Amino acid sequence: MKFTVLGSGTSVPHPQRSSAGFWLETAGGSLLLDCSASAVHRMAQENLDWANLDAIWISHFHLDHIGGLPAFLFGTKYAPETQKREKPLKIFGAKGLRELIEAFDKSNEYNLLKQPFPIEILEVEPLEKFEILKDTEAVAMDTPHTDESLAIHLRDKTDKTLVYSADSGYTKTLGTLARAVDLFVLECSFFKDKPVETHLELSEAMHLVRYAKPKRVVLTHLYAEWDAVDFEREVERFSPMCEVIEARDGLRLEIN
Ligand SMILES: [Zn+2]
Ligand SMILES: [Zn+2]
Repeated sequence: MKFTVLGSGTSVPHPQRSSAGFWLETAGGSLLLDCSASAVHRMAQENLDWANLDAIWISHFHLDHIGGLPAFLFGTKYAPETQKREKPLKIFGAKGLRELIEAFDKSNEYNLLKQPFPIEILEVEPLEKFEILKDTEAVAMDTPHTDESLAIHLRDKTDKTLVYSADSGYTKTLGTLARAVDLFVLECSFFKDKPVETHLELSEAMHLVRYAKPKRVVLTHLYAEWDAVDFEREVERFSPMCEVIEARDGLRLEIN
């Protein structure tokens, strides 16, 4: 698997960190994990084959995770690169995803679901396995963030695994989901003294890492307060027992 960070930030505008989007490539195809407004253009900036994207995962309905989806579909509807495309684009997410996309679509008769190629919207149930890409199996889990928010566990045909927490408050089950995975992409919105319960701060994220024992960790969804933090020094205080990487836009990792 190949993993690229499109956006390591949040909904708040930041000069270096755009909002959520991660590109994953497996032998079975390509997957966009969350689709912020900035992710749409970040795919092109990273020279990724957005016109042949196979699937999109929407973790929850906050606009820094779904706000780019209508804009992307508006782009693919008219782009020269997609006019001859035939394979479907699958969009996965929680119950309510179809209603939300259709509501946006109807707000101005965009006809976003009428594309040169088929669009499939698939609403998933927590803890029920589904195939998100050819030969890549997925399971989602409820997280304490919004009513519909989901973390996702992915396993490709070579048994490489990735968990993407998306936005989440503290729950030990997130650590269970990420047990021994090859890459744990974990939100760590705040450094410390978090102002809300529905996100994580460093001590909680590191507690989950020590519990999950993944091979590698990327901490992401970083608010601007992280700009003033010595990331490596602060992470080292928790003796994480694996490599913990600060997400930045453009970071690329090979999972093998
Ligand atoms: Zn967010
Ligand atoms: Zn959120």
